[in-house]
Amino acid sequence: SSSSGLPAEDASSKSNADVFWAPFTSRDHHAHGASEAYSFASAAGNYYTTATKPHRQILDGVAGLWCCNAGHGRERITKAVTEQMRTLDYAPSFNMSHPIAYEWARRLVDLAPDNYKHAFFAGSGSEAVESALKIALAYHRANGQSQRRILVGRERAYHGTNFGGMSVGGMTNNRKQFEGSLLPNVAHMRFPYKPSMRFSRGMPDGFDDDADDFVNDLRHIASVHGAENIAAVIVEPIMGSGGLFVPPKGYLGKLKSACEEVGCLLIFDEVITAFGRTGRAFASDSPDFVRPGVESDKGGMADLVCLAKGLTNAVIPAGAVLAQAHVHDALQTGYEKMASDENLVANAPRAFHYSGMMPGLFHGYTYSGHPVAAAAGLATLDEYEAENLFSHAAQMAPLLEDAVHTLVDVPGGKECLADVRNYGCAAALELAPLRNKSTGAPMFGAAGRAFFQFAFEEGLFVRNGGQGGDHIVMSPPLSITPEDISFLHDALARSLSRMSQLH
Ligand code: PMP
Repeated sequence: SSSSGLPAEDASSKSNADVFWAPFTSRDHHAHGASEAYSFASAAGNYYTTATKPHRQILDGVAGLWCCNAGHGRERITKAVTEQMRTLDYAPSFNMSHPIAYEWARRLVDLAPDNYKHAFFAGSGSEAVESALKIALAYHRANGQSQRRILVGRERAYHGTNFGGMSVGGMTNNRKQFEGSLLPNVAHMRFPYKPSMRFSRGMPDGFDDDADDFVNDLRHIASVHGAENIAAVIVEPIMGSGGLFVPPKGYLGKLKSACEEVGCLLIFDEVITAFGRTGRAFASDSPDFVRPGVESDKGGMADLVCLAKGLTNAVIPAGAVLAQAHVHDALQTGYEKMASDENLVANAPRAFHYSGMMPGLFHGYTYSGHPVAAAAGLATLDEYEAENLFSHAAQMAPLLEDAVHTLVDVPGGKECLADVRNYGCAAALELAPLRNKSTGAPMFGAAGRAFFQFAFEEGLFVRNGGQGGDHIVMSPPLSITPEDISFLHDALARSLSRMSQLH
């Protein structure tokens, strides 16, 4: 018995899947939750193999969780990781040095748009977001603007699940259980979507006034809280977990102008958009995501950029923040600034300790710049380059676009589809919610769950979720082939036809 006197829960009577506490998954709620029928045993290329018999090949329509951008089982990455484990399995990345982390930082900065000059490492996307938010706050403090503490996120945004990311995030379910304990000093803008944008191909065009309207949310927040109190705005260039929402043309550029007016930093959460998803290395690289004609934007419009997932092809967990020089320098060149102050020099080093003015960033993780993650990261960059995966993704993008948008014409398509969205190597179907047969009330999430199962039975792995739960999101490996895309189309078409029988 346990110390409470009650019989201890007997784990041995439960299945292994029951003992495993799955993130984001309630067994009652998700028919496919902990069922071993829905687990994978192995993966190669663009396909998973199911764990239970009969072992089936399932097309990985999500690249794991938007993360295995090069597909599965890349030998170059496996080899680099195992060799690194043998040579230097771990070394601290602060106060000490290990050159492979420096090399990784250099390679990332070389790949990134010109304005991004420094890389800070973390262990996941959530940690990258926390790091970026903390860097933004510390930056303003270092610049003598410690009142700039308000962080601005958006409705339906996903920025991971740690406290900062959850607080600037806007997915209702992720917040509800923790309401009251979220960060103070957070405001939200609307997400930039209107029903009139439905079924747009790629980036919605011709919504200039709407883009202005959505961006004015930041000006409203500034007029309520004071522009001088706003620290940063964080956005996903394309909202992923929320259901793949592509902003209308011009929106992000206008947002950048509004950030300049307010004097706050702009953070791009490129956890899913970086490493080829848009057909380029970063969304920040693409003319669709900057102000037309503003030369400096081409070097990357954000002050800070969050990375994870495709950073290491998900083989080893890792995250990173890229920073413009002005942000990095404000925090990292403090000693130089202090050294030019005669008073401080006279009292150094005591002044540094007792004045509360220690330069540097007081933040980091045991696994920041982990050597094995660095090895995985470097090999992943080599793989992207050697296989031309970003340009391959750009070539596959129009095929994927056709594959999903032509679904409105298949049996059940018009009835079941509330929207179809896509950009680059990513696409989403928004399903019309199933309704209670007697009351007509929408049963949010039921269509998404049913569709997931149909698609799985048809040999395709997709992700059901987003606000309401009826978004079907796809972000296949960038290595997806035209044959895979036509298989994906057919599996989706058959699933829609089965879906229509549930309405
Ligand atoms: N930001 C975005 C935009 C994401 O999509 C995700 C993960 N889906 C995260 C942050 C969090 O990443 P992680 O799960 O690695 O913490």
